[in-house]
Amino acid sequence: MTEAHIVCANCRAVNRLPEARLADGPKCGRCGKPLLTGAPVAADTALFDRLVMSGSQPVLVDFWASWCGPCKIMAPAFAAAAAELEPLVRLAKVDTEQAPDLAARYAIRSIPTLILFAGGKEVARRSGALDRATIIGWTRSMLGQRPQ
Ligand code: ZN
Repeated sequence: MTEAHIVCANCRAVNRLPEARLADGPKCGRCGKPLLTGAPVAADTALFDRLVMSGSQPVLVDFWASWCGPCKIMAPAFAAAAAELEPLVRLAKVDTEQAPDLAARYAIRSIPTLILFAGGKEVARRSGALDRATIIGWTRSMLGQRPQ
């Protein structure tokens, strides 16, 4: 049975559990909070590094800022995509004003920018506001899955 490494967005503990249990609403072994909520995680640099480097799931990150109109337009679509893509993919939001170090690390030039990480590495990126179906379809195709 394949073991998943799921990072807790609350306490950053890495939880190891069988992949078959991911659909059962697993809770964090350290803090007791639900591990997968079907909603994007607001990530600071420390949580981002943990999710991307220590989690076994691919991570789709929305780089955004509060002053950015297209980011606000895309936010509900991104949230809806999280409900659909979890537990296969983890969705996170990085506020580029709160975490300018991450924006610099990944050379974010325009927002919103989506970057898909797998195995700790960037596998794809795309800029501009997208709708829910496009976010889901693009993510699945970049991960080598057929659209459903
Ligand atoms: Zn926890």
